[in-house]
Amino acid sequence: MILFDFECPSCALVFEELVNKDKLTHECPECKAEATRIISGTRIDPRLGLSTDYPTMADKWERSRRAHHKSEDWD
Ligand SMILES: [Zn+2]
Repeated sequence: MILFDFECPSCALVFEELVNKDKLTHECPECKAEATRIISGTRIDPRLGLSTDYPTMADKWERSRRAHHKSEDWD
């Protein structure tokens, strides 16, 4: 038995449930619809988003700034 996250397509509830690893669906505790298993690792953590996006954004900005300066020097 493994703790998996499930997402209900009917009411959008996300809940954790201990199920067998090959079980792909589970009854939603709210509306009794068939919720589908989701991989929790794919959920976007805002803290992770900041730590991974920031260097990329800064790098992109730095490169565009350098390119701009370079073209100014050539002119
Ligand atoms: Zn539901």
